[in-house]
Amino acid sequence: MLPQEIIRRKRDGHGLSNEEITAFVAGVTNGAVSEAQAAAFAMAVFFRDMSRNETVALTLAMRDSGSVLKWSEIDRPIADKHSTGGVGDNVSLMLAPIAAACGLAVPMISGRGLGHTGGTLDKLQSIPGYDIAPDQARFSNVVKDVGCAIVGQTSNLAPADRRLYAIRDVTATVESVPLITASILSKKLAAGLQTLLMDVKVGSGAFMQDIAEARVLARSLVDVANGAGVPTVALITDMNQPLADAAGNALEVANCVHFLARHKAGTRLETIVLAEVAEMLVQAGLVPNLAEGENMARSVLSSGQAMETFARMVHALGGPADFCERPQTYLPHARVILDVTAPAGGYLAACDARATGLAVVDMGGGRRQTSDTIDHSVGFDRILPLGSAIERGQPIARVHAASREQADRAGQALLASYRIDANAPLASPVVIERIG
Ligand code: URA
Repeated sequence: MLPQEIIRRKRDGHGLSNEEITAFVAGVTNGAVSEAQAAAFAMAVFFRDMSRNETVALTLAMRDSGSVLKWSEIDRPIADKHSTGGVGDNVSLMLAPIAAACGLAVPMISGRGLGHTGGTLDKLQSIPGYDIAPDQARFSNVVKDVGCAIVGQTSNLAPADRRLYAIRDVTATVESVPLITASILSKKLAAGLQTLLMDVKVGSGAFMQDIAEARVLARSLVDVANGAGVPTVALITDMNQPLADAAGNALEVANCVHFLARHKAGTRLETIVLAEVAEMLVQAGLVPNLAEGENMARSVLSSGQAMETFARMVHALGGPADFCERPQTYLPHARVILDVTAPAGGYLAACDARATGLAVVDMGGGRRQTSDTIDHSVGFDRILPLGSAIERGQPIARVHAASREQADRAGQALLASYRIDANAPLASPVVIERIG
């Protein structure tokens, strides 16, 4: 089958057969399809879309482009969650150990930051010694012994996605529902999951800015994952402000340790983490309903089991044995730490979370180009939530920067990303919708 004929049929709006999709993906994997052809294919899909059946075929072909992990030696349910990405979204860091302490096995394959959003792998790399790319044997052993391991995509896991994704990234073809669906799910399915929870973010700091777009993506992810044999539920959650009260790699890891020590009770972050763990426990059949799932999650937090599981995972993957007792000894510190103060009194009424995320990237906390190295120490913490009543001159966050000049610029960018109003904004729900 000639790649150009497959591209031509998609360009002209025809549905592709399983054989055509499988042959094209095989060519992406072994190099028989050139970069130009893969880019043209992605653009044809971008404009012509794909049916559910085509998207399932694309997902399975990309999953099978590399190895698919098997967990036959583990007798716990194998489960995971994946977020479409946001700002201050460090949920994975605490969710994996909480879910593991509740009895799930969580082999979490995570990604690097993309655009203005943070990446779980970049966050974990702030921990000295933490190996984000263990070989398969070490990854399996950690999941088996500890119950969870958060690592990066290995070279033999969905290699077709790695190549296609890099091409999409530079050809304006990322924002296509079937391509996003197949990209995310091929990696998740290759991890050998039995159930999956998708967190589809919507709002100013998400890739999907409005609820209609988020629903289309959530529906596609749920239908295609179920079509590929992995029972999946999606929660559409709010991303109109940083989720944690921190944004930046080391700062979000510190936030996670504080969360596990129960210092973040009552926050929006806690609401999402508990709701997501509860969904995962119900999906796996470990509890009969969400309320019992939340209770179980709260109890492993209160007993310290979740913290202990996180500490064991960090150590098993090469980090310090006493990381959770002394995170500040190990995490990198920024040279300059300053309060960012409100220029006027009122209420924090709205946030352009994308701009907040870009302010972190601008300080070096994210990448402008794939080859950039990251400054893990920079970012914001002590960020007040929307709805906070503030007085003129009161800190609304702290900036952590490499220099005074950088701190001033980032502080200005943070202030510009918030709107202060005389009236309190209406409270908005954190978990907006459930798509099952
Ligand atoms: N994350 C992925 O892994 N793939 C996409 O296409 C978008 C987000």
